[in-house]
Amino acid sequence: MDLHTHLDLYPNALTILDKVNNTNRFTLAVTTSPRAWFATKKVFSGYSNIKVALGLHPEIVVQKFNELDLLLSSIPIAEFIGEVGIDGSPKHDISITKQEVVFDSVIRECQNAGGRIISIHSREAASKVLAVLKKYPDSGKPILHWFSGGISDLKIAIDMQCYFSANQLMVNSIKGKNLITKIPKHLILPESDGPFATLKGNPIMPWEAMDICPALSDLWGIPLNEVKIILNNNLDELLSC
Ligand code: MN
Repeated sequence: MDLHTHLDLYPNALTILDKVNNTNRFTLAVTTSPRAWFATKKVFSGYSNIKVALGLHPEIVVQKFNELDLLLSSIPIAEFIGEVGIDGSPKHDISITKQEVVFDSVIRECQNAGGRIISIHSREAASKVLAVLKKYPDSGKPILHWFSGGISDLKIAIDMQCYFSANQLMVNSIKGKNLITKIPKHLILPESDGPFATLKGNPIMPWEAMDICPALSDLWGIPLNEVKIILNNNLDELLSC
């Protein structure tokens, strides 16, 4: 399984769809704009194990701001939402107000729609993201993708029962390991974040998202097969309403 991949952005996307669909029981293909969501879900429609999430990536909020109405009006017909969120890194300072408007309205509409599974970007903005989630407590099930916030925000997110999707770069970094050991096992899910996340220059593939399991086995001190059972149970729980 893979809970956060930009499957439409792999250079060879069409040629890997069969393998993704056959290897993974579940793949969440996030999109970066509502138009991309419409186009991608058409192309991926024959693949029952691949779900396409409606998104507007915080890093391109300025370029895609004119798609905000389309984004909000599509939430009622979208089963999954992502990639949405806030990026607080200096590079995106200039768009922070627009980012906050978009994220707040997306989460509000998720609540109005009865709740959604939402894959969320929170780089250098964990506190802001969590404040919005707190404002709309019935927005659904947030998955904090590649979380890199501080320990106090981590605790708040755990109290709110947010899920955390982790990739190989996260589970093999000192900071990531420190965070993961503080997260209850039942809130962890695997992700690739490919093709952006790479290992030795190669994009992490959706069927490699579960390669975080050996690292989790070490961190948790439990056998590999138990790790896999836990992650599968976590997915079942996420998808149950
Ligand atoms: Mn991403």
